[in-house]
Amino acid sequence: MRVVAVPCLKDNYAYLVIDAGRAAVVDPGEAAPIEAALVREGVTLGAIWATHHHHDHVGGIQALVAAHPGIEVVASVVDAPKVPYVTRAVKDNDVVAFGALRATIIHNPAHTLGGITFFVEGCAFTGDTLFGAGCGRLFEGDAAMMHASLSRLATLPPETRVYFGHEYTASNLRFAAAVEPDNTAVARRASELTTPSTPSTMADELATNPFLRSTEPSVIAAARAHGANDETAISVFAAIRGWKDSFK
Ligand code: ZN
Ligand code: FE
Repeated sequence: MRVVAVPCLKDNYAYLVIDAGRAAVVDPGEAAPIEAALVREGVTLGAIWATHHHHDHVGGIQALVAAHPGIEVVASVVDAPKVPYVTRAVKDNDVVAFGALRATIIHNPAHTLGGITFFVEGCAFTGDTLFGAGCGRLFEGDAAMMHASLSRLATLPPETRVYFGHEYTASNLRFAAAVEPDNTAVARRASELTTPSTPSTMADELATNPFLRSTEPSVIAAARAHGANDETAISVFAAIRGWKDSFK
């Protein structure tokens, strides 16, 4: 299996998951860059995997299905009504076969209620749930729901490669440094950052992503200074998420 990142729109990433001359495309926000990447890689399109219903992740589906009739379109059963041309609506722990590949579905609601991660061959396609050094906004769920979703992803093996939906890593690391000024892993990651920053690893995220670090004393102290009522992981997470929403 080989993964090719395909920049789309302003700062989105789609991904070709390539095996045996065929590609599944994760989150095609637009069709033209995907078609160009398929030609460049010399592969045919076999499936579309949507992490959630937002237009910047599914906007290319209509044109891709028209150009590649009969391909499978996978989305969460929860988001499926808002995703065009879904042929397979999945739920937590379902397994999606693509040739010899087997992708496990991890339901991680909060950014949208049907947000899913595709986990295949040590690679996690997290959409807008887990970003490089950040996490998605709480459009449809609350802080407790996002904390639970991220905590689940955090149990994936540390060597997991994390393929996220947007190139936000530089600004996310500026926020991470504000939360944890003494975190040397954050400073190192910021100084070594190159674009594209995708994929990261789960080990990177555990060391630097403030939204996975709600039980660290440094993060708890920052949350206390930004409105957390107590030191439970959810209160800490909620305060950090709220702070990030207005951070410049
Ligand atoms: Zn989104
Ligand atoms: Fe997005």
